[in-house]
Amino acid sequence: MILDNYHPIWETEEHADLREMAREFMAAEITPHAERFAESHQVDRDLWNKAGDNGLLCISVPEEYGGGGGDFSHEAVVLYEQGLAGDDSWGYAIHSTIVAPYIVEYGTEEQKQRWLPKLASGELVGAIAMTEPTTGSDLKAIRTHATRDGDDLIINGSKTFITNGTQAGLVIIVTRTSDEPGARGISLVVAEVDGLEGFERGRVLAKLGGHGQDTRELSFTNMRVPAANILGGEAGEGKGFIQLMQQLPQERLAVAISGVGQAEAAVRQTIAYTKERKLFGHTVMDFQNTKFVLAECATETLAGKTFIDYCINEHDAGRLTGEQASAAKYWGTDLQNRVIDRCLQLWGGYGFMMEYPIARMYAGARVQQIYAGTNEVMKDLIAREF
Ligand SMILES: Cc1cc2nc3c(=O)[nH]c(=O)nc-3n(C[C@H](O)[C@H](O)[C@H](O)COP(=O)(O)OP(=O)(O)OC[C@H]3O[C@@H](n4cnc5c(N)ncnc54)[C@H](O)[C@@H]3O)c2cc1C
Repeated sequence: MILDNYHPIWETEEHADLREMAREFMAAEITPHAERFAESHQVDRDLWNKAGDNGLLCISVPEEYGGGGGDFSHEAVVLYEQGLAGDDSWGYAIHSTIVAPYIVEYGTEEQKQRWLPKLASGELVGAIAMTEPTTGSDLKAIRTHATRDGDDLIINGSKTFITNGTQAGLVIIVTRTSDEPGARGISLVVAEVDGLEGFERGRVLAKLGGHGQDTRELSFTNMRVPAANILGGEAGEGKGFIQLMQQLPQERLAVAISGVGQAEAAVRQTIAYTKERKLFGHTVMDFQNTKFVLAECATETLAGKTFIDYCINEHDAGRLTGEQASAAKYWGTDLQNRVIDRCLQLWGGYGFMMEYPIARMYAGARVQQIYAGTNEVMKDLIAREF
């Protein structure tokens, strides 16, 4: 079929081996446990350690800090395979392709040595806390603030919708560190939160989908963190907003990659199902409508693969623009939702049952159009460069 024997332009033998390994890992450690993860609103904690042992975490982090020494295309292989496995429980993308790169890019030498090896092994799980109850898209309006007290910062504020909120031991907190208005007073402060006084994990949020994901509220009450934990040290103070703007394109591309991976998963699973399901003496696949719908979905998914692979190649070459990443994010996640919705219809009533992966993928897909910058914000960013 048209999605078989597809090879990204950047794929080497090393990527192909990694793909094989990631696929086996998802099949053994994630797919069989999907329902249990959903019921407990989190993955097994030791999934992180197992992934670390298999070299699947922080693949783009330099080897000297315990990472895999690869680049973003290696991360992309794991992201795509996670999507292809239909998984939206494991907060791999936040940990490996978002949190770790902030530390690689902006951390001081001491910060890199302290945190990266633990993220790469799975000893620490990473989260990033930007969103607050009163502000999401308008990041400049955050209210969490840190005041100096000797060598420490005292942080007060609350965050919501934080992925890996239950399991995170390291949280990058977006906070004001001065009274300067808007973007200027914002810094990124890294907190090792386990047992930290003043740190509280709030509600596990009940969501429409992605039930295996530990999305939570976090709050900080007179929480004391060394000022040396400002990402980038003294030089990083007040640079948080710029750092976020520089890293968000990679986060957006990561969301697009998992989205197209899930679209492919839906097409493949629906082809298999409709060939099996019998009615009126035929299979569902025998209806011309089924063939047309799946031909269209497979073609759109193939177009999605070529688009994200172009963006991955550009990103590795340092050429991907913010607008291109925004385009990949909005178009890739719209594609994901459209394809999964059309595929689900071909499953009849079973498509509505949460025990079937297609139903879980349908519910989980919706948020992809919302987080990492809503798809409306993506279009606004694209149009700003017209
Ligand atoms: C499951 C889940 C996991 C998440 N994980 C994290 C996480 O780990 N860390 C984190 O910090 N955040 C996380 N988020 C938060 C997410 O990034 C925000 O929800 C998102 O940025 C939108 O912010 P908001 O919810 O405040 O919506 P709002 O900003 O209030 O947006 C409301 C509406 O206004 C529209 N809008 C906003 N700006 C414009 C514009 N310029 N033009 C047109 N329309 C516009 C939006 O598109 C939307 O339709 C997560 C959210 C969810 C649901």
